[in-house]
Order: sequence, then structure tokens, then C-alpha cells
Amino acid sequence: MPLLRLSPQIKNTYWNIPQKSFRTGVIQFGESKKNLILHLHPFCKSASADRRSPPFFESHPFSSISNSEEIQKMATLVPQVVSLDPTTIPIDYHTPIDDLNIEIKDINDKACTADEGLIVFLLNSAPKDSSSSGSGGNGESDSPIKINSKVNDNTINEFLKEGNMESFTGKIGTSKSFYIANDKKKYVSLAYIGCGPANEETELEIRKIAYALVTMLHDNKYKKVSIIFEIKIQENLFRFFLEHLFYEYVTDERFKSADKSTNTDYMKNLSLHIANADLYKGQIDKARVYFYGTYYAAQLIAAPSNYCNPVSLSNAAVELAQKVNLECKILNVKELEDLKMGAYLSVGKGSMYPNKFIHLTYKGAQKGDNQNKRKKIALIGKGITFDSGGYNLKAAPGSMIDLMKFDMSGCAAVLGCAYCIGTIKPDNVEVHFLSAVCENMVSKNSYRPGDIITASNGKTIEVGNTDAEGRLTLADALVYAEKLGVDYIVDIATLTGAMLYSLGTSYAGVFGNNDQLINKILNSSKTSNEPAWWLPIINEYRSSLNSKYADLNNISSSVKASSVVASLFLKEFIENTPWAHIDIAGVSWNFKARKPKGFGVRLLTEFVLNDAV
Ligand SMILES: [Zn+2]
Repeated sequence: MPLLRLSPQIKNTYWNIPQKSFRTGVIQFGESKKNLILHLHPFCKSASADRRSPPFFESHPFSSISNSEEIQKMATLVPQVVSLDPTTIPIDYHTPIDDLNIEIKDINDKACTADEGLIVFLLNSAPKDSSSSGSGGNGESDSPIKINSKVNDNTINEFLKEGNMESFTGKIGTSKSFYIANDKKKYVSLAYIGCGPANEETELEIRKIAYALVTMLHDNKYKKVSIIFEIKIQENLFRFFLEHLFYEYVTDERFKSADKSTNTDYMKNLSLHIANADLYKGQIDKARVYFYGTYYAAQLIAAPSNYCNPVSLSNAAVELAQKVNLECKILNVKELEDLKMGAYLSVGKGSMYPNKFIHLTYKGAQKGDNQNKRKKIALIGKGITFDSGGYNLKAAPGSMIDLMKFDMSGCAAVLGCAYCIGTIKPDNVEVHFLSAVCENMVSKNSYRPGDIITASNGKTIEVGNTDAEGRLTLADALVYAEKLGVDYIVDIATLTGAMLYSLGTSYAGVFGNNDQLINKILNSSKTSNEPAWWLPIINEYRSSLNSKYADLNNISSSVKASSVVASLFLKEFIENTPWAHIDIAGVSWNFKARKPKGFGVRLLTEFVLNDAV
């Protein structure tokens, strides 16, 4: 992201405004007297700490700028109950990864310098001795692991030749560290990280390897890190290794009162040494983009619902559209009424925040054969900024009401993908990023269990349960997407808690009405290393959604396979466009690390890129 440079006059003007939670202003600049819209963010620690320090416009990424009057119209003031209520989602647009200098070198050509910092060897466990087969059973042997590469230092090379492998077997995720003097008698850190048996790495192993490395980084705060790949690794796993390393390295401190930004901003140089380095060069920029798209989504998900509400989330989408140059449309309640989105509007009725329907559009250049017309794709993310369950309150044990800020993870994944696509700019594809954003709350205005509501395709729905609200919002979004005349519709949603039972916390479930499209999604799952698995839509269960008075009920009274039933419900709102539904209710949140995964950004982006070719 380019940093903003403003004249002293503008800085002074804005510096004197009393600090409010969120400042927006319009100023004129240049001979053209063009309007600039400034959004100044309250989360700038330097601003509150020292008013006289250089304004954060120069150094802080939160300030954004636009010369489009249209954009100004779209951003809306966030309703507050008291004046202290947050009016915007703080988003870090700049991360320590932007300042990280990365170089990649061929392991055979240029030896790694050993003058400072950390040198890490990624090592497979020693190949299993065939003569002793049957004794080990885990693919690891007791024979010592050898290091083949050399560094630019004789003392350290001697040390590596010796191996010093005592107690290190190369088991996945294990490590061994040394602190030794080099030729110049300067101390450097040396470490081995175990990568398990050769050629058996999957995303799971890569995450374990990256985690072991990040632990070392956080413990020792190295400025310079060199990684020597003694392992063979596929290109997309190499990229995933970097993405995951960045994701685990950067910590989200937006809501801490003390400024800790320097704590995670120490690694400045990363040098990668790998065989056939040319093969991997192209993955570094992509890793940066995928990391940030994922981290962006994670920031939206991690922002609690008093910060992230339908209005502030739609404002974030407007700001994103400006930054990566996407067309942007936010549909307000009046327009949603005109479109007769009765299902979606009903869900948001109990909230103090109005429904906001996000529609960003990317139009790639049309290149090559004219006959080859641009593919049109609609991506829809479920965007419930808080799901109380409504009158079917999430009161039962295990309903996790305290986690329900995460119920807009689908929207976050779609917006993260919008960032990636807007940055990568693929040709021959047009992508519509959609989310029917609202909040499911309890109030005198809320929709009730038993209400009959009418969706925008005219179908009537009996509300069997107000907590099955995601499918109601998606129903109208699917109808809207199909009207755009797209080739594919893919929705992504934290839709059913039952996913935790069917596939657990690692794999998303993929449903759909078109095998070819589902296979494309599964292929993108493989290349993005975001695991997903095909689950069936079982028509036999359709009758369990029958309602006595309406066209259908939003829940089944008899079938317990609620992820399948939810898919059957959604299918009612698609006429004949190929459609896939990705249920991420089990995978969105990392329960162990107590943070979001940003799941789906890379999967959706790979889908768009694979299909755009
Ligand atoms: Zn719900």
C-alpha cells in the first residue's frame, strides 16, 4: 500500500480537530479543486500519545483517501447508543511483512552467509533402511541425518559436517538449536527443524514446520533469518509455508491499549535457499498477497460485534474497493425493499443497525481469442455480524454465543478474495463479491419463530427457527446473484454447527448442484492448501422442509443431517446456474489458538485464478 503524503497545511488542519473516534472530512486540493475524502482512524496510537509528533498520515496505514464522490455517498455513519460506541472497524492495512525483505537463492549456487541472525535447516528424517523394514513402522530410522548444503563459513561447515544430531530424529515439528561462533568469532544461531519422512509433506506438516520456526522467531527476535530447504517441496506447499509463517508471525494487537507493534516487527530480512530456486521465485509475491488477503479477513472476523456491525463492515468494503480499485455498490434497506428481499430483511429487523448488501465487482481485461468470452463468477459470503440466534436464543450449552462475532466469516473470506483478485488482476474473468450483511438480534422488532416471510423469488418461508438465519440471508443473495447472469455461483458460510460433527475443524464441506463446479472447487482446495471435502445433497430429505402453510420451512423437524438440509434449502433459490456451497462453520475458527484462520480467501482466489485461465 502506498503511504500517503500530505502537505503541512492539510496536516495542520486535521491535527487541530479534537480527536473523535472516527474522523471524516472533505478537502479540496490541486488546481482542479478536486475533492479528497479523508478517513482518519482512531486507532493510531502515536496520535493520542503525542499530538506534536509527525502526523500519522505519513507513517500509518489507517488513513485512506479517495477522490471519488460516489464512494463518499456509500460510506454511512454508524449508529451509536452512546457516543463512546465504536464507529469503525480498525484494520491494519500495513503489516510487518510489507517491510520484510525476502530473497531467494539457489542452494547449489550461492551459499548462505553466516554472519548474523538465525540459520535454519529444514531436514527430513533419515530414509528408512530397507534391511530393517518392519522394525520402525513410522518411516523414520536411527541412522543419522546428513546435511548436504554448506554455508559461507568454515567453522560452521565443520560443525555441520559433524552433524551434531544427538537426539534429533527429524520428526515432524521437532527442533534443535545451537548458538555457535563463526570464523569471525561472532555468535550465530543455528537450528534444525524436523520435517518428517521425505515427500510426505501436506499442509498439516507445513503448518507444524512453520509453527516450530515462528516459535523460535518470537522467542529470540532475530533480525535476519535464513532458511535452508534440505527438503523437496512442491511449489504450492512452499508458498503455503511462507503464507503460514507470515500469518503466525504477525500478531493482531489492534485492541490492546499499549502499543506493542515493535514486538512483532523485528524480522527484516528473510533469505530462502532452495534447489531450483527459479521454480519458486514467482510464489513469493503470491504468498504476500495471499497472506494479506487471509490476514485482512481474519482482522474482520476477530473484530468484535461492537466494532464490526453491518454498517461498519459495509464501510470497510467501500474502503477496500477504493484501495484495490473495484466497482462498489452498497444496497440500503430501501433498495432491498424494492428488490423484495423479505427473507434477508426479516433477519436484520431486530438490530439497531440497518441491513447493508455489499456488491463489489472486478472486471478483468478481455484478452486473447475474442470468442473466449469473459467468465462471470459470483462469490457470496454469509455476513451475520452477530448471531444471537434471535428469539431461538443461543442459550443451550455448546451453542457458543460468545463466538458469534465469527458468523460473518464467509463475508470476510469473500472480501479477502476481493483484495487478492483486485491486487493480482487476472484477465478474462469478471467477479462479483456479494454479502447480505445484517445482525440477528432480539428486540421488539425482531422476526419471530413461526413468522411467514417472502423471499425475492416469491417463495414463502415459515420461520421454524430464528437461529437458522444464515440461509434466509443467503436465499435472497442467491436470487440476486443469479439475476447477474453469472456462469458460476459459489457461496461460503458458517452455516451449520453440524459441520463440527461431520468433518470437524480441519475440512470444509462442499455441496452443490453441478459436479464439474464442485470438482473445480476441490481442485482449488488442493492448490490453496485449504482442505475441503465433497458432501452430498440428499433429495430424499427435501420433504422434511415442507411447511403446512408456507412453501417451505427454514429447518427440518425430523432430519438431523442439518448441513445437508441447509443445502437443500439453499438449492430452492437457484434456478439453473451451476452453484456450490462451502460450509465453513467447523473450520473458520482456530479453537486452539483462539483466533480466526481466515479460511476460504485462498480457496476462492485459486478458484477464480484457475478458472480465469
Ligand atoms: Zn444462527
